[in-house]
Amino acid sequence: MTDHCALLRFHGDIRRLLDPGSRHGVRTPRAERLRARETGLVRYPALRSASLKDAIEALGIPHTEIGSLRIDGVEVDFRHPLTAGTTCDVFAQPMPEDVTAPSLLRPEPFSGVLFVVDVNVARLGTLLRLLGLDAAPPPDGDDAAIAALAARERRIVLTRDTALLKRKAVIRGRLLRAAAPEDQLAEVLDHFGIHGPFAPFSRCLRCNVPLAPVPKADVLHRLEPLTRIHYDSFHICPRCERVYWPGSHHEAMLARLSRLGLLRSED
Ligand SMILES: [Zn+2]
Repeated sequence: MTDHCALLRFHGDIRRLLDPGSRHGVRTPRAERLRARETGLVRYPALRSASLKDAIEALGIPHTEIGSLRIDGVEVDFRHPLTAGTTCDVFAQPMPEDVTAPSLLRPEPFSGVLFVVDVNVARLGTLLRLLGLDAAPPPDGDDAAIAALAARERRIVLTRDTALLKRKAVIRGRLLRAAAPEDQLAEVLDHFGIHGPFAPFSRCLRCNVPLAPVPKADVLHRLEPLTRIHYDSFHICPRCERVYWPGSHHEAMLARLSRLGLLRSED
């Protein structure tokens, strides 16, 4: 076709997200979708002055999934126009994705690995906080509120919602592929290269706020009789005032983390 199209070549596991028909607001014919996912090749009409970000996201892939872009071999950024007759190579994020390293697509590095976790993967958020990782729950409000928090505090957005990750305010994120929370945890740790050591039970599982030690006498009135007898070490969430102690629930969660291979015996 000597037409007004550019050729987009997708590399890596982002191919499986391709949905070339979504730009027309209709479901892609299955054969077309499968062909695009298998070959990674999509011809894209470059009639209007669409940016690369627009074109890639119109094909179903949020910009957060992209590690680098090359047009005819030269590295370019998201704002680069897609022009007819050119070939653009679209690469997935490298594994592990290093959020502290500047790149052409994301010139300002993050200072560390901080997350904000969407409500559709809320149990993943609890598991991350259980490990002591900084994983903020979604703020009240809609997607815009999550994106604003991510921008303000330079947090990585974790979600299964493609539209949220397409927002401009979101710099980094991960569209979770796995469905089960424990598989999602493994996916996040792998993708961002997080190996520990972890600090389990150092954050409130609800609020993400670091826990503070509290004298037993201060919380005695809130404890069940057996807890009063058997435990002496207590922590409290400064925000919601939930009290934590190394009881059976705590032990069960540590056992769960051990089964996932996330804790060494001395942890
Ligand atoms: Zn709390």
